Amino acid sequence: MKKTKTNKLIIPKSIVTVDAQERILFNHAIEIDNGIINRIAPVAEFNLDTFYGEIFRYENFTLVPGFIQTHIHLCQTLFRGLADDLELLDWLQKKIFPFENSHNKESLRISVQLGLNELIAGGTTTIVDMGTLRHQEVIFEELIKSGIRAYAGKCMIDVNDLYPEFFESKEEGIESSYQFAKEFHNKTNGKIKYAFAPRFVLSCTEKLLIETKEMMKDFPGSFFHTHASENKKEFEVVKQMHGKPNVEYFDSIGILDDRTVLAHCIHLETEEYKSLKKRNVRVSHCPSSNLKLGSGIANIPYMLKNGISVSLGADGAPCNNSLSIFKEMHLAAMIHKPIHGPTSMDAKTVFKLATIDGARALHMQNEIGSIEVGKKADLVLLNLEKSDQTLHGNEDSIYSKIVYSSNKDCVKNVFINGELVTADGICTLYDEQKLMSDGKEELRKLIGRV
Ligand SMILES: [Zn+2]
Repeated sequence: MKKTKTNKLIIPKSIVTVDAQERILFNHAIEIDNGIINRIAPVAEFNLDTFYGEIFRYENFTLVPGFIQTHIHLCQTLFRGLADDLELLDWLQKKIFPFENSHNKESLRISVQLGLNELIAGGTTTIVDMGTLRHQEVIFEELIKSGIRAYAGKCMIDVNDLYPEFFESKEEGIESSYQFAKEFHNKTNGKIKYAFAPRFVLSCTEKLLIETKEMMKDFPGSFFHTHASENKKEFEVVKQMHGKPNVEYFDSIGILDDRTVLAHCIHLETEEYKSLKKRNVRVSHCPSSNLKLGSGIANIPYMLKNGISVSLGADGAPCNNSLSIFKEMHLAAMIHKPIHGPTSMDAKTVFKLATIDGARALHMQNEIGSIEVGKKADLVLLNLEKSDQTLHGNEDSIYSKIVYSSNKDCVKNVFINGELVTADGICTLYDEQKLMSDGKEELRKLIGRV
C-alpha cells in the first residue's frame, strides 16, 4: 500500500485488543491510514527508518480502544455541584429543569465544551447524548467541532408537571426533532448520528412517544434514547398512570427494539427483563448516578446472564459530579458484589461493557470498540506503570489495573479517528483555563436568570 503523510505508527508497550480472542499484544505496533487501523504487527516487521508518516513511541504505555458512554447530558455539565444530595424527582424539579430552562446559547455552548473537554481527556471517544429542549443546534455544532463520535438528539418534553415552564408542544417537539435529524443524522462521514430523545415517561405524552418511534423510519440507523425505571417514586407514578410498569408500558406501545437505549432500568418486574431480552433493548448502566441520587442498583449481573445488552454511561455531571468512564467502570465492578458475590462483574467483563459492548449496543461493533484491522482508530494510551497499581505483569492484571486501580489521570493520550486530540492527558481542542473562566461567567449569568 502506498504510504502517505496521513500514515501514523503507534508503538505502545502493550495493546488490549478486545478482539474475538481477547488478545493482549506485546512488542506490536499499529499502523493507521486515514483514520483507519490498517496493520497490526510485531514492531520488528516494520521498517521504522523508511516509514513515511508520523511515529508515536509510547513504550511505557498500554493502548486500549476508545471508551464508549451510552448515556450523557452535555447540557448539564455547568450545573455540577449545584444539585447534590437530592432524589431524582426533587433533583429535576428544584434544580435541573430550572437550570436547563435557563440556558441560552452561550451558557449551553460552554456547558457542552466543558463536558467534551472532560470526556475526551478522560479517554471517551463515543457518546450518546440526551440533548436539551432549546438551542440543540449548539450541541451539534460543538460535537462536530470536537470530532467526537456521537449519537445525539434534541430532548423532547411535551408535558411537565414538575416544572411547567420547561416544555413545548408535541408538534413543536416532533417537527424540530425531524428537522434536526434531517440536518445532522450521518453528518461528518457518519461520525454524528441522530438519537431521538424523549426525556422520560413522566414528561412525554403517549402520542409523542409513538410518533417519535414512527419518525425513526425516515432516518435509518437512528436511535431512540430515553430514561426508564430509574427511581422508585417515578416507577410508582408510571404504574399508576399507565396501569403497567415502565418497560412493559414502552413495550405495549411499540417503543422497544434493538435501536432503543434505555438509561438505568433499576426498578423492573420479572416480566420486564424478558421484554428487554425479547426486544433486544440496549440498557445503559450509570452506577455513579444511581448511587448519588439514591435511585437503587440495577440488576446488571442478571441482565448479563440473560444476554441483555448492557453498556456504561456517566449520565450528567450534576448526578455523579464526574464524567469519568473510570469511575463508572470501578463502580460497575464494585456495587454488584455485595449482592451477587465477589466473582460477579469481574474486571474484564466490566472493561468490555465500556468498549466492545458499548459498540455492539450502538450497532458499531464493526467500526469501533476494539483494536482490529479495518476499524476506526479511536485509541487511548494509558499509563498503567504507577506505584499505586499492581506490579504484576501478567495479561489479566491489565484489566485489574484499568478497572480497579486507574482513574482519568492515567490517560496519557487519545486518538479519535486517527487524530491526536490530547497532549499528555490534556485535551488540546480547548483552552481549559478559558473554559473555566468563561464557564464561571456564564454560570453566574444563568443563575441570575433562574
Ligand atoms: Zn440521564
